[in-house]
Amino acid sequence: MLDVQGLGIRFGGNQAVQDVTASIPAGQITAIIGPNGAGKSTFFNLISGFYQPTSGKIVFLGEDITPLKTHQVVARGIARTFQTTTIYRELSVLENAMIGHRVRTKAGLLDALLRTGREKRDDQESRAGAMRALERVGLATQANRPAGALTQEGQKRVGIAMALSSDPKLLLLDEPAAGMNPEETVNLMALIRELVAGGLTIALVEHKMSLVMGLADQILVLHHGQKISQGTPGEVSRDPAVIEAYLGS
Ligand code: ADP
Ligand code: MG
Repeated sequence: MLDVQGLGIRFGGNQAVQDVTASIPAGQITAIIGPNGAGKSTFFNLISGFYQPTSGKIVFLGEDITPLKTHQVVARGIARTFQTTTIYRELSVLENAMIGHRVRTKAGLLDALLRTGREKRDDQESRAGAMRALERVGLATQANRPAGALTQEGQKRVGIAMALSSDPKLLLLDEPAAGMNPEETVNLMALIRELVAGGLTIALVEHKMSLVMGLADQILVLHHGQKISQGTPGEVSRDPAVIEAYLGS
């Protein structure tokens, strides 16, 4: 579904991602792991158009999307969540999901927050898309509650619904289980499995190894911005390069 070739980005003298060639197959769960600062979030920022790579190419469903801006990438079918959940606590769960929809289908956040005349009709569309997303994450009954009143787990689900509201083909989750207890983590894993069973392709960055090993079809390991291993959970966990990267950091 997604192929990156020789992907890299430099911030000043810091090569945050370097010459990464990898693919994310459709219908699977791909986990991206690696020590802190390995370049995992930056990798997602590159794929989702938040950062422009300094080298390499990103091909999604056969199309070169390397030069595209975030909202154009979203329109092609890639959505993401952020490492720190960015929800609007005072707004309702539904309104949050609607912002997700509008941010992802229109030009940006400003457009999503500024309401102009023609947007009445767009609102209907956003509402329907947002409700579908809430149903997928099990929050339909919570639609009218303030997002800030939900549990931490519920707020994480709002973040996922915001991404799902654009009806993506590929969903990127950045540390979805961060701060979750074991029970919440198990619930999240069930949700991820359901989404994939429904046809979504998921790539996730995660530190919780129980989640990674229990969910991932394939794992990419980044270290100092480079891909040092790729394979099934079994293959990667036996790879001496991976063991060394984790022990050495
Ligand atoms: P990870 O998610 O694997 O912990 P990151 O992708 O956040 O790591 O960071 C990888 C490296 O890129 C770090 O050295 C970080 O400081 C650097 N980096 C990420 N984003 C920026 C940025 N916008 N400007 C400068 N350096 C950045
Ligand atoms: Mg990160």
